[in-house]
Amino acid sequence: MTIPVFRFAPSPNGSLHLGHAFSALLNQKMAHEMAGRLLLRMENIDRERCAPELEHLMLDDLEWIGLTWEQPVRRQSEHFPLYQQALDHLIEMELVYPAFLSRSGIKQEIERSNIDDWPRDPDGAMLYPPTERLLSKREQKSRMDRGHPYAWRLNMDRALEAAGIELTWQEFGSHEHKVKARPQDWGDVIIARRDMPTSYHLSVVIDDALQGITHVVRGRDLYHATSVHRLLQHLFGIDPPLYHHHRLILDDEGNKLSKSRKDTSLRSLREQGITRQEICNLIGL
Ligand code: GLU
Repeated sequence: MTIPVFRFAPSPNGSLHLGHAFSALLNQKMAHEMAGRLLLRMENIDRERCAPELEHLMLDDLEWIGLTWEQPVRRQSEHFPLYQQALDHLIEMELVYPAFLSRSGIKQEIERSNIDDWPRDPDGAMLYPPTERLLSKREQKSRMDRGHPYAWRLNMDRALEAAGIELTWQEFGSHEHKVKARPQDWGDVIIARRDMPTSYHLSVVIDDALQGITHVVRGRDLYHATSVHRLLQHLFGIDPPLYHHHRLILDDEGNKLSKSRKDTSLRSLREQGITRQEICNLIGL
């Protein structure tokens, strides 16, 4: 029998809050119940927003709440060449294209289309206008050579065609069920952001596979993103892990906690003299 492998994968771009504590400790609890392992990964591809000092504080907060993880900690910033390889694979398969529209360019393009109810992705953002799928190789190259900034986006229609089957994923835990993936709801998602060979979606899929993750436990806010992950896994020939998307810890007004809010950060709660046990009570664990 294989040993279950769990991971907690925060982005060190702010301070950990009660929601992270819940996610981390739930991972630990489930891993423990299944006699599994728990790994820690720093999702720090964004070199501008993720700072080593923030990572240091995070590790300290995680230790304080009683999380224990296996060494070494994986840092995505140390694996860019690997993500580049995966990106190159998608480029060779002609499943991604360079996308040059800026935020205002996207808006203009959508206005020009005269479509009133332009579709939105599950996070509420307008889908990327797919017009640049049609740019010739020559035009793409010429814009790139002239230094136009661009991101690599998935040609969703082509990717779905290449996948060829309906994808699903398995939720485990208290409500086991199979979920039909709907990557098409995301349109032409970003696979590699400007000036970097990757994005959250690409790195998370590659890393979960390379770290041998069998059980992904994360917040419901990433439920719909799993559709994109399933598509990428399929295109790379990766066996999917099982997923458990847990409830989110909300503030008194019912809003998701944010890394910029001080009052629910573990650091400030700690400074107010709150104990680890009280944190567990607050998050209902
Ligand atoms: N790094 C992501 C975050 O902090 C979590 C990624 C994941 O668990 O898949 O929101």
